[in-house]
Amino acid sequence: MRGNILYIVVPCYNEEEVLNETTKQLKEKLNNLIKEKKVSSKSKVMYVNDGSKDKTWELIKQIDKKESLFTGISLSRNRGHQNALHAGLMTAKEYADIIISMDADLQDDINAIDEMIDKYNEGYDIVYAARSARKTDTFFKRFTAEAFYKFMHFMGVDIVYNHADYRLTSKKVLNSFSEYGEVNLFLRGMFPLVGYKSEIVYYERKERFAGKSKYPLKKMLNFAWDGITSFSIKPIRMILFLGIGIFIVSIFVLLYCLIMKIIGNTVSGWTFIVCSIWLVSGLQMLSLGLIGEYIGKIYNETKRRPRYIISENLLDTK
Ligand code: UDP
Ligand code: MG
Repeated sequence: MRGNILYIVVPCYNEEEVLNETTKQLKEKLNNLIKEKKVSSKSKVMYVNDGSKDKTWELIKQIDKKESLFTGISLSRNRGHQNALHAGLMTAKEYADIIISMDADLQDDINAIDEMIDKYNEGYDIVYAARSARKTDTFFKRFTAEAFYKFMHFMGVDIVYNHADYRLTSKKVLNSFSEYGEVNLFLRGMFPLVGYKSEIVYYERKERFAGKSKYPLKKMLNFAWDGITSFSIKPIRMILFLGIGIFIVSIFVLLYCLIMKIIGNTVSGWTFIVCSIWLVSGLQMLSLGLIGEYIGKIYNETKRRPRYIISENLLDTK
């Protein structure tokens, strides 16, 4: 039987309006899980204060004092959802065997936790919770979010469709994950890279019960852009293909110009100018793409991602 101390990591940025309700619901859930002996009584909820400007941290400190099942850490300033989550995960893995990350606004159904823990006990190390329906999201949010997943897929990034950052990971996974040295975090794209046995469970996403979304359109676009540029050098490769394309077209333009010249259908100097423009811009694009390829290689090297992760070593068991 694997260890069963559960830590639920919850990043919070200006969440004073929701924290008390969240605490109430998570407390009930965790107590039930402990009663059913699904998780150890040493389990906890860990709030990560991401440099909130309101009373969030004071609230977390109060909750920590009152409730034995709750604890918290605070970042020195606002570092964004992904960094806050990362900080929480890396801290929690020192105390826990099972770590679940979720948002403070309880949009993710906490009842999915039972199934996630069941999957963990069946031997899965990563359990992704994915949204089965987006009934409560506005059309705009749903459309942009779903287009994003499809586009990411097209860009060659391996992410779980409709999965945000609601997931269970074992201590083992997080220990391997800590070897990923990159600074631009896009967690939902990184966990599939780590590997191990994984499974998906589905839940219905609810509405935020209080407070406003901390992900306005600008942050969402930034996040999507980070996801693409942190995982894919396809955009660079497109420059190269564009260069090759223009170069091929320029050969036809060259032929066309020569024919026009021979027929005498031109003003003086026209052939030279048109040919130069096409040839030179094709060559430029081609060289840019070529340089880009090298930059892409450098970029991947600087991330210093681990080359491999050993999931089991039979020598250890002897
Ligand atoms: N969050 C954070 N730092 C930030 C922005 C958001 O820790 O700079 C947290 C926030 O408190 C919440 C989670 O990230 O727990 C998701 O944010 P939100 O619910 O606003 O996003 P949405 O559900 O609208 O995508
Ligand atoms: Mg939310």
